[in-house]
Amino acid sequence: MRIALIGAGWAGLAAALELVAAGHQVRIFEAARSVGGRARGLPLARPDGTALLLDNGQHILIGAYTETLRCMQLAGVDVPAALLRLPLALCQPGGSGLQLPSAPAPWNALWGIVRARGWRWSDKWALLRTARAWQRAGFACAEHASVADLCAELPARLREDFIDPLCVAALNTPAAQASGQVFLRVLQDSLFGARGGSDLLLPRQDLGALFPDAAARWLQARGAHLETGRRVQALAAAPQGQGWLVDGAAFDAVLLATASTEAARLVSQCAQTAPGALIVPLCDWAGATQALRFESIATVYVQAVPGAGGRTLARPMLALPSHAQAPAQFVFDRGVLGGPPGLLAFVVSTSQGERARLEHQVLAQARSQLALLQAEVVQTVVEKRATFACTPGLRRPGAAIAPGLWACGDYIAGPYPATLEGAVRSGVQAARALAG
Ligand SMILES: Cc1cc2nc3c(=O)[nH]c(=O)nc-3n(C[C@H](O)[C@H](O)[C@H](O)COP(=O)(O)OP(=O)(O)OC[C@H]3O[C@@H](n4cnc5c(N)ncnc54)[C@H](O)[C@@H]3O)c2cc1C
Repeated sequence: MRIALIGAGWAGLAAALELVAAGHQVRIFEAARSVGGRARGLPLARPDGTALLLDNGQHILIGAYTETLRCMQLAGVDVPAALLRLPLALCQPGGSGLQLPSAPAPWNALWGIVRARGWRWSDKWALLRTARAWQRAGFACAEHASVADLCAELPARLREDFIDPLCVAALNTPAAQASGQVFLRVLQDSLFGARGGSDLLLPRQDLGALFPDAAARWLQARGAHLETGRRVQALAAAPQGQGWLVDGAAFDAVLLATASTEAARLVSQCAQTAPGALIVPLCDWAGATQALRFESIATVYVQAVPGAGGRTLARPMLALPSHAQAPAQFVFDRGVLGGPPGLLAFVVSTSQGERARLEHQVLAQARSQLALLQAEVVQTVVEKRATFACTPGLRRPGAAIAPGLWACGDYIAGPYPATLEGAVRSGVQAARALAG
């Protein structure tokens, strides 16, 4: 089949690997000059002229990202070199918090909770009881339950120090507004899934090198046509039901792998000239997609003075006590993750407010919580539409739009929140369904 694939983020690239491996002719259109979409490398020049390779946002992967790891490997990435694998640790600067031992689930979670530092025995017991109740219920809950509803019985301190940061890290949605169902599914597959599922996988290379650039090379070497800097303007049904037109060029099938807003624009515009039978499915799909709401994520890159051995933090990743005036929930030591010594990435999930204020607050956090007195902001990247807001009972659009017209991406109906794994799985599944 001649297939047009619109968008070369992680979903589009994973779909393209699948389609090209199955022998289809794939033409990929990407609006940006580089591939990777919302998870891409970001080259930067420092004021002194030295080059710095950052990301559009600090990302973490976990061991349960099995499809992502498979696609990285297929594209030729040396996965153990590209990712630092560590047992899950959500520790704060003073060392309090949860740290899992390397053991099969659920023993790692059980042992981690029992050994958690800084938690009272009553906190640990409450969490064990609640986790056991979730497990007994098969990690299912009422469709309209929020994460806050699920955790209402837990002590306030545990909710603030553990559940809230875990929820924003996984769903990028505050616990009071986040889907309990999706949260439980993430817990099931990570903390209570296969051995190593909860491991943190921290990128040691920029996000472009981690998968998108390698996937683009793999695809081009096998004859796929990749056009970057090419934003598709219009999608239309070809006359007599003979496939689809992408900016006037004919294809047997089209896979929309753009973010949701752009996919909705292309589909609703297409509905205006589509034959009668297609109008309702196209409008329904575009309507469901347009209804999604978004949360932002800011990454504040800070240069600090590195300690001995180039290490600035006690761990490569630390959870930070966060509230309205101290907005960063996590900080990463990029100096031990392949970056220049002393470079830190502060992550502010569900970020709000203006950039200058955010930077000021993050620097204050670096001083008060990490004792980093000499620190300055290198770059702040605010992704306003980082992820869809993963709210209870959310109706996400499906992958099949109309015959020969499919969509993939992190927002397509599926068990996961907006993540790399959600995007990659959606890409692989749509490619298989489209060509199957
Ligand atoms: C700051 C930040 C931090 C995050 N942290 C994490 C994390 O720690 N762990 C995790 O798993 N996930 C994280 N995520 C989420 C993850 O990055 C996304 O879920 C994933 O990248 C989405 O991939 P996608 O392919 O579905 O969409 P996108 O990456 O949005 O790809 C869509 C592509 O389509 C292109 N495009 C759009 N319109 C057109 C057009 N008309 N023609 C041609 N091309 C077009 C775009 O340029 C883009 O390249 C984070 C996201 C952000 C922004």
